[in-house]
Amino acid sequence: MLNSPILSLSNHTPIIYHHTPPTKFQSLPSCSYGRPEFSSGSCSNAFRRKGVVVKVKGMMKLEEEVVESGKRGDFGEGFDAIVIGSGIGGLVAGTQLAVKGAKVLVLEKYVIPGGSSGFYHREGYTFDVGSSVMFGFSDKGNLNLITQALEAVGCRMQVIPDPTTVHFHLPNHLSVRVHREYDKFIEELTSYFPHEKDGILKFYGECWKIFNALNSLELKSLEEPLYLFGQFFQKPLECLTLAYYLPQNAGAIARKYIQDPQLLSFIDAECFIVSTVNALQTPMINASMVLCDRHFGGINYPLGGVGGIAKSLAKGLVDQGSQILYKANVTSIITEQGKAVGVRLSDGREFFAKTIISNATRWDTFGKLVKGESLPKEEENFQKVYVKAPSFLSIHMGVKAEVLPPDTDCHHFVLENNWTSLEEPYGSIFLSIPTILDSSLAPEGRHILHIFTTSSMDDWQGLSRIDYEAKKQVVADEIISRLEKKLFPGLRSSIDFIEVELKPLTSLILLYICNSIHC
Ligand SMILES: Cc1cc2nc3c(=O)[nH]c(=O)nc-3n(C[C@H](O)[C@H](O)[C@H](O)COP(=O)(O)OP(=O)(O)OC[C@H]3O[C@@H](n4cnc5c(N)ncnc54)[C@H](O)[C@@H]3O)c2cc1C
Repeated sequence: MLNSPILSLSNHTPIIYHHTPPTKFQSLPSCSYGRPEFSSGSCSNAFRRKGVVVKVKGMMKLEEEVVESGKRGDFGEGFDAIVIGSGIGGLVAGTQLAVKGAKVLVLEKYVIPGGSSGFYHREGYTFDVGSSVMFGFSDKGNLNLITQALEAVGCRMQVIPDPTTVHFHLPNHLSVRVHREYDKFIEELTSYFPHEKDGILKFYGECWKIFNALNSLELKSLEEPLYLFGQFFQKPLECLTLAYYLPQNAGAIARKYIQDPQLLSFIDAECFIVSTVNALQTPMINASMVLCDRHFGGINYPLGGVGGIAKSLAKGLVDQGSQILYKANVTSIITEQGKAVGVRLSDGREFFAKTIISNATRWDTFGKLVKGESLPKEEENFQKVYVKAPSFLSIHMGVKAEVLPPDTDCHHFVLENNWTSLEEPYGSIFLSIPTILDSSLAPEGRHILHIFTTSSMDDWQGLSRIDYEAKKQVVADEIISRLEKKLFPGLRSSIDFIEVELKPLTSLILLYICNSIHC
């Protein structure tokens, strides 16, 4: 589930089609990766080119400047790259190319950037669409990829350190806070499982071994053989460590050291918030990255809301002379002799570039956008080892502040009675209260609750509009009752605003190869 840097830059790597090799980008000096001086919470504006900008008035209060929709000619010819979608993945791909001198056009079907890491305003509240536990956003090490992506376009955001990554509320009254300080977390976990102290230290110790190896590399992608080859010569020991762990899952490693079934279930819950699957299905490398980064760089919330990251990247892109076009729904990728050369929008406009990068889901990209082409071999293989992540049912609420007990943490994970419900639809509840960290996101005396739970799209297929809305209401009511019982008595009567939304999957889960080999 979490958009850890590795997940976002590998599992979520935008799909890239090369029309002609992008030699232009490769030959440019890499100094544009440098870390320029900038003031806190700002973006440099040094490279802005002339562009048509207007304020868009939509159903949402939108203060950002967006590039006006235009005809094909308005954007000129000869883009080096077109990026379909302005999620964090698409924006990072676009900005990384733009700072190397490429002329990029990002096409977004919605009216604002960010996708699942976007934002929206309602009745004085600023809601995060999805993500709010932000990894890779510190000022330390090599794994702070969000910080680095922003710095590449001269931006730095003010962040608020989160003292607790997540507060687990689990069966058998297991209530564990994952403190920012590693030792404090280990002490709290060990207080529940004193007989497993050694196993706990060994399991998390292995996570640190992997994390330290990753953190010593200039991390880009674990799926690029050429890049990995280059890294191998610089850091052979670290690369061998990673190669050793690459085919292993967190559950198998936990079982080497831990016997207590409840503690193993806790490790499952730890992995579930990373990947929406249990530990046996979560790659050890991905788990380690998240389980350690939360203590190394820590979880940091951007002041003003997560949407600020996408806004900053989009601004950075335009400042570099590239463009972003909203309300641009790509309906097909135009191919010539098997190569992607352009895109067609739902309104008939066409744009062309040397390279087409898709930040839409793989299923949309290969199932809907690329028409009449057979599935590339790499994609066929990919689909064999990955399964779709579940969808999420999200409830965005504004509540009266007094309903939250003092010292309530920002992020919670709730699984009340039965460990076996962990992976079931609606079984566990994720809850973020970003106003604990940034009160400016809500009107005075109010808090934001973003609650979400896993759901299966199959449950919703074929329902009429009325039945669909009614079902959303029933599910939301049930979730609110559970939270009222477990955490916040009086929650229902404190609601000031509520909106329920079903979010289709955005990601993929590695169907761990070791499932069939070792486990
Ligand atoms: C409810 C929820 C909670 C989450 N919580 C966390 C969290 O706490 N921490 C964390 O790290 N991660 C979290 N995630 C995951 C994280 O938000 C996503 O992994 C990440 O934002 C995905 O980014 P992306 O760029 O890959 O895709 P997306 O965000 O899905 O972006 C894709 C973009 O492409 C656009 N697009 C798609 N098709 C087209 C088309 N045909 N034409 C034009 N535009 C198109 C979409 O409109 C969208 O803007 C959460 C996700 C959800 C749904």
